Amino acid sequence: MQAYEDSEPIVRIRDLKKDRVNFVLDNADLAFANAIRRVVQADIPTVAIDMVEIEENTTVLPDEFLAHRLGMIPLVSVNCDEAIRYSRECTCLTGCQYCSVELRLDVSCHDNRTMEVTSNHLEVIPPMNGENDGLPGEEITKRGEDFGHPVGKNDPAVQPVLICKIRKGQQLKLRCVAKKGIAKEHAKWSPCSAVSFEYDPYNKLRHTTHWFESDERAEWPVGENAKEEEPPRDDEPFDFNAKPRKFYFEVETDGSLGPQEVIMRGLAELQTKLANLILGLKAPPDVDMMNGGGGDPGMPPTNGHTTAGGWAGGGWGSMSPTGGGWGNGGSAGGGWAGGTSPAQNGGGNSGGWATSPAQNAASGWGGTSPSQNAWGSNTSPNSGATGSGSTWGTGVQQGWASPSQQASGWNV
Ligand SMILES: [Zn+2]
Repeated sequence: MQAYEDSEPIVRIRDLKKDRVNFVLDNADLAFANAIRRVVQADIPTVAIDMVEIEENTTVLPDEFLAHRLGMIPLVSVNCDEAIRYSRECTCLTGCQYCSVELRLDVSCHDNRTMEVTSNHLEVIPPMNGENDGLPGEEITKRGEDFGHPVGKNDPAVQPVLICKIRKGQQLKLRCVAKKGIAKEHAKWSPCSAVSFEYDPYNKLRHTTHWFESDERAEWPVGENAKEEEPPRDDEPFDFNAKPRKFYFEVETDGSLGPQEVIMRGLAELQTKLANLILGLKAPPDVDMMNGGGGDPGMPPTNGHTTAGGWAGGGWGSMSPTGGGWGNGGSAGGGWAGGTSPAQNGGGNSGGWATSPAQNAASGWGGTSPSQNAWGSNTSPNSGATGSGSTWGTGVQQGWASPSQQASGWNV
């Protein structure tokens, strides 16, 4: 185990296709693997139809039925970060070319046969060149040629998405506005149709219980991933301290983004979330944390990353009369790292825990704690971490595979 934790996480791509990737993540913690899965599933922005104006609908399907189907059609969202704004961050009032993509559909059937209205009938209205509504923005130049188009439009190898079927005399005419969003808000913005990982194919850790009638191994055949691991010996004793370290990922996208962009964006998003957490926890230097973080819940945050006083404003300390909602050890029941409270540390050590996970370690989070595993307890993950801490509490040198922590906003 120790040797495992001495090195950094390793990623080995086993299969990479246009819309899927299969890779092995080794030397990582279960929580980290799951964090990647969650972030990839729910936090990566794409564009999807968000508003539908129906002009004419004489099909057999009601308007809202069609609107829902249109929303679920995957649209090409490559470089979504730079190519489009969130509407809520845009200066326009009702939607403009910088924060939305307009699509139109107008299909009517004149023949004596059933006709299929599909995503191939959706036409993107190109943004007006030169006319920028007086608003500055370079988003449009960052868009690819097919940005906002239904995935696989006019590609004979890709079957279009069926919207509805119409007969002679029926018509569907509508206007759609696609917007940028994330799947936490609505699943239509998820770039992934499936994200999963497997670990411990032999169930050595006994994280699951196999019900069986007579022969467990015969009734629960192992999968392909078992080839990557040593089969358990018949006389092998159960290791209570073993932890999963190797994860077999399968990520399938809906085509709006490529699998590589999905994973890389996911890691960047995770990094941003953690950096924001560190920033949010950063105590303003002039606040007396010993007295419950200044005791003013309405104090404005000083770093711009927090809201309404709670985090940076010292809400921690003030949550509890003992001055340490989190780490107040014994009396508070453990909190994070036990030991002394973060409030006390923060105040007494010029900058507290937020200057960087590594630097602070000695005084902030895990330093005095008995468990020493979480956050940044040491400058090296292997010297003090108990296993679960290795991917997080990495030091300045190791990081998680980020060679430029300073530049990428880690050391705040
Ligand atoms: Zn706008």
